[in-house]
Amino acid sequence: MFDLVIANGTLVTAEAMVRADLGITGGQIAAVDKRLVGLDTIDARGMLVLPGAVDEHVHLQMPVGEFTSSDDFYTGTVAAACGGTTTVVDFAEPRPGQSLVESLAERQAEADGQVAVDYGLHMTLSRADDKTLAQVPDAIKAGAASFKIYMAYEGLRLDDGQLLRALAALRMHGGRALVHAENHYAIAYLTDQALAEGRTGPENHPLTRPAVMEAEAIHRLLALACVTGTPLVLAHLSCALGLEEVRAARARGQTVWVETCPQYLLLDQAEYLRPGFEGAKFVMAPPPRTETDRHALWDGLAAGEIDTVATDHCPFFYETQKTRGKDDFSRIPGGAPGIETRLTLLYTHGVRTGRLSAERWVEVCCTEPARRFGLAPRKGTLAVGADADVAIFDPERRITLSHEALHQNVDYCPYDGWQVQGYPVTVLSRGEAIVSGGEFVGTKGRGWFLTTTPLKP
Ligand code: MN
Repeated sequence: MFDLVIANGTLVTAEAMVRADLGITGGQIAAVDKRLVGLDTIDARGMLVLPGAVDEHVHLQMPVGEFTSSDDFYTGTVAAACGGTTTVVDFAEPRPGQSLVESLAERQAEADGQVAVDYGLHMTLSRADDKTLAQVPDAIKAGAASFKIYMAYEGLRLDDGQLLRALAALRMHGGRALVHAENHYAIAYLTDQALAEGRTGPENHPLTRPAVMEAEAIHRLLALACVTGTPLVLAHLSCALGLEEVRAARARGQTVWVETCPQYLLLDQAEYLRPGFEGAKFVMAPPPRTETDRHALWDGLAAGEIDTVATDHCPFFYETQKTRGKDDFSRIPGGAPGIETRLTLLYTHGVRTGRLSAERWVEVCCTEPARRFGLAPRKGTLAVGADADVAIFDPERRITLSHEALHQNVDYCPYDGWQVQGYPVTVLSRGEAIVSGGEFVGTKGRGWFLTTTPLKP
């Protein structure tokens, strides 16, 4: 007799869709079989039963200059849960003088007691001196085996020499690298030029971060990683030119995995031409590109060239925070909300349109993100012994997305007014319902810190 049985649903994993029941005991999946009996039963007739989704790239209460991203560890993880996501991976960003392990402990203290779902932390490597790199094994031991590297953003970015040193250290210790690739100098040059010419509106944002310079950074990154022999994950790929660089690196035998985000699959540069200051809602880096790029990303995702879909969730209020850049687009805080809408958007625009199979949808949103960051097999799949993180998804449920109805703590949604079909209705975290009937019923602080595991050095 199981604690709980999810009966009569269609289980969807990366491998298959099968009609079967899920038996849950002690917060874990204990059986996948027909006609199971439990103390409690959820009837999932007509529903898709998925592994809880894993979002490998979120920024909750992230300090950026004078602002902090507007979802905190509580509101952001409630929104995640309501969207079917039961694991998020955020970032620990060491302050000057702070060790990696101190920064990790500080960030964990901020999250623990707040998070509604389980979480892990990437360690940001904003320095690559001997002292910092010597701390990489300590960070891995303390539970952060993946490391974020930025090629753009003053104060965070590594130059090529530093990048080489960081990649070599990660290779040696089995650290997983997640890299933001854009060309810092081109962005600075184009931004200065725009402002000098009096071009100050948000429509200038994409013009100062052209796809060709994202592709250049990807090329340079992959060439440097070829020198050090470091496998890596490329964060938020936005363009076809960048995907070409990935193909070239793979053709010469390199291991590179690729993440993209719903905004690059679904939005394009036309959003920046909205009237008034509205384009500011879409200021994020890299920017959404063209229709051609969107199609290339969908094709790459279906073909297995792109491995994961994360959100890069980093919301700022339009009325009070984005407006900092009213007279200077380069001062608009960069980032947009998305933690709650990933599964439904990918189902509506991926599975329903025939671009992705349901299995591939689950693979890119749930299974592969867990694998990629050392959280599998505990997270990301429906298998005996895995945590009973489950999203029960109604494939027919129609919703009009609006920031009022969503749980993200922000005054807009990039998809306000979009119709979706297919939405999570019940979500379990380690066997306990945290969303029921589309509403959050979990508790603050229930989430656990998850240790990520290193690659084999
Ligand atoms: Mn990010």
